[in-house]
Parts: sequence; structure tokens; C-alpha cells
Amino acid sequence: MSAKSIAVLTSGGDAPGMNAAVRAVVRAGISKGFGVLGVRRGYNGLLSGDVEEMNLRSVSDIIGRGGTVLYTARSPEFNTPAGVQKAAEACKKLNVVGIVVIGGDGSFRGARDLTGAGVPCIGLPGTIDNDIASSEYTIGFDTAMNTAVEMIDRIRDTAESHDRCSVVEVMGRRCGDLALQVGVAVGATSILVPEVEWDFQKDIIDRMRFAQKSGKQHFIIMVAEGVGGTTELAKKIQETTGIETRATILGHVQRGGSPTLRDRVVASEMGYRAVELLEAGSSNRVVIMRGGKIVDLDITEALSMQRVFDKKLYDIALQISI
Ligand code: ADP
Repeated sequence: MSAKSIAVLTSGGDAPGMNAAVRAVVRAGISKGFGVLGVRRGYNGLLSGDVEEMNLRSVSDIIGRGGTVLYTARSPEFNTPAGVQKAAEACKKLNVVGIVVIGGDGSFRGARDLTGAGVPCIGLPGTIDNDIASSEYTIGFDTAMNTAVEMIDRIRDTAESHDRCSVVEVMGRRCGDLALQVGVAVGATSILVPEVEWDFQKDIIDRMRFAQKSGKQHFIIMVAEGVGGTTELAKKIQETTGIETRATILGHVQRGGSPTLRDRVVASEMGYRAVELLEAGSSNRVVIMRGGKIVDLDITEALSMQRVFDKKLYDIALQISI
């Protein structure tokens, strides 16, 4: 193993584009003179020594693949002071001078703790939910949006043929970004997100009835996972309106698939930036998108930020999806 190595791992929920980020870290790291170690299954790999030395060809043909070739995991053991200490000691034995952690807020908390234990970490935002407050964009979001739109366009074809209402649930436990963007893109009559309170009569039934008056006969109601109750909602809409209503929960289909151009490019830029930061001796930073540009921010500061929901786009959707 090289005298001076950096490591890369993917942690928490997987997202399309993580592989493109891993590839960028490996290639940039090697070209800047580092050895690069791939850590398997998130922080678990540091604890169990599941680590391999990467070379330029280890990441051939992965830029277009979904999932993560390094595998990912949630690690309860790492999420303890003793676990963090054990991981830090493992890094020192491996001559690791820095780690790039690709994941969500939970993974960044781990990166902050590991930096505190003496191993400089850089976080890259990878999650299909776009739920990282510090970054306008997270790796995987574009692919997930496009997958959901493609699926709902298919549902729409059949809903339209039968004059049906379709209630479609997309991912997003705490964050309605996916539901909002996809809802606008498919012309959903109602968009229900955790960030905005809604009323069954006013925000669903009255809107359906209003659209019916001008001849609309099929409807899509978009629900974010965090709102929940999708199947019951479909039943209630059918009982109230008499319109045949079906519920579809898209689920994990949204996590998979080949990353879009945007995710591949953003992941490549962010991965490169992470290595530049380690080369410059920075630590405890997260690479983010702000104003459309790739910049970086202190992890602790990033973790204290509050997400801002795009209420303007939500209001536009209310006015034009009628
Ligand atoms: P995500 O990164 O997608 O938000 P999780 O919240 O599951 O996913 O976090 C991934 C892993 O990061 C956890 O399994 C745990 O090992 C580590 N982690 C999460 N929170 C903390 C924390 N507060 N301190 C240390 N490690 C943490």
C-alpha cells in the first residue's frame, strides 16, 4: 500500500451517481499521487477491515451504473464513541490521510465524528431525496426524478384510458422535493408534501371538481412518502367522488437505474473537488452545490442548516395544474 492513502466509502441509502463519484475520487486521487483505498459497506468496512487498494481500472465501466460498487450500509457499531475510535485507529494503521464519505446527513455526522478522532473527512451529498439542507442538489436526485416521471407517464396512459384517478407515492420521508418536481412535471392535480399542510376537501376534492367542470376526466394526486396513508387516501377519494381511484407506491424502483447525465457530471465534479480539498489539507468539509456552482462548507455548519422548501414552485403548480 502507498505511504499516503486516501479512502472512499458510500454510506446510508444508495443513490444513482454514487459510482461516478467513486470513480472521480479514485482517478483524481491516483493522478494526484495518493494511493486510494475503497472501503466496502460504509463505515462497517473500516471496522471490519473490508478495504481494497483501487487502481485506475478498478473503476472502469462504472460511471453509467446505478447502485454503488463499494456497497453501502448503516452501521450501528460505528454510531458509538467506541466505534468511531476503532475506525480512526484502523485508518491510522492503513496510513489513511483522509476519507471521502458519500452519503446523506447521517453519514456526514459520522464524518464529523471521525474528523474529531483525527481522520480528516470530506462529505459528498448522495441521496435521491435532495434532503440535505446545505446543498441545492444531491447526487441521485435527477435520476430519481426522471425515473418517477417515466413511471407516472405510463400510469397516466392507463388512467386516461379509463377516466381514473391515480394516487402516486414517491420517496421523500422528510422532504417533498421529489414529489414537488415530479408533480409539476406530470401535471398532478394535487401535490401533498410534508412541508405544507393540506386539507382533503379543499386541496384534493374541490380541485378535482373544479377541473371536472372544464372536462378533465383523469387525475394524478402526488404524495410524498413522508405524508403517507396513500392507499387509504385513494379509497377515500373514490368514496367521495365516485371516480375509480388506484394507489401506486413507486418504492425502490426510484433508487435504481443508470444515472442521468446531470448526476454523472455533478458526481464527477464533486468527487474531484473532494480530492482537491484533501490535497490542500482541508478537513471536516462537505462539497455542496450553491447558486449552481460546486463549493464547500464546514460539515458542522452544514449540519446545522434548515432546508428551505420551494414554496414558489408549489404555488405555481397549484395555479397551472388545473
Ligand atoms: P444517510 O447518510 O443516508 O443519512 P443514515 O442516517 O442511515 O444514512 O447514516 C448512515 C450511517 O452514518 C449510520 O449507519 C451510522 O453509522 C453513521 N451515523 C449516523 N448518524 C451518526 C452520528 N450522529 N454519529 C456518528 N455516526 C453516525
